[in-house]
Amino acid sequence: MSIRGAQRRYVKETAALAGADLDLEPGRITALLGPSGSGKSTLLRAIAGLERLDGGEIRLGDTVWAGPGRHLAPERRRVGMVFQDYALFPHLDALANVAFGLKGPDAKTIAMAQLEAAELGHKAKAFPHELSGGEQQ
Ligand code: ADP
Repeated sequence: MSIRGAQRRYVKETAALAGADLDLEPGRITALLGPSGSGKSTLLRAIAGLERLDGGEIRLGDTVWAGPGRHLAPERRRVGMVFQDYALFPHLDALANVAFGLKGPDAKTIAMAQLEAAELGHKAKAFPHELSGGEQQ
């Protein structure tokens, strides 16, 4: 993935992103480091499609995800994102939280398989306040 000159301004006076360049290579893990407020979340949100760029370009191979006059919808990018705050429903247990976005009769089964994949099957009936930060994430 290639990011070139990514710009984003929430307010006129200051740029949250002022021309960020970044290359992400397949099969490699990349960490984005920087002081608080330096634009890390904004860049990640722009990659996921949750934030629109005011300038610059994000592309995957030959496909432009974001650029002048172009904004590919987040659900068409197939980008997974773990948010900093967990946005869990406090009144739903872990299983119901995971199943929330799923439709159809198999929702609970699929959600349980996902919990088990994260080695959290035994926490299916736990509510968010009973889980550690890492388990919530
Ligand atoms: P980081 O993740 O590196 O801490 P952010 O990308 O969250 O930085 O924020 C970059 C800058 O943009 C900060 O100055 C922040 O205050 C500002 N900012 C972030 N989100 C918004 C928003 N929704 N509205 C206005 N300003 C924002």
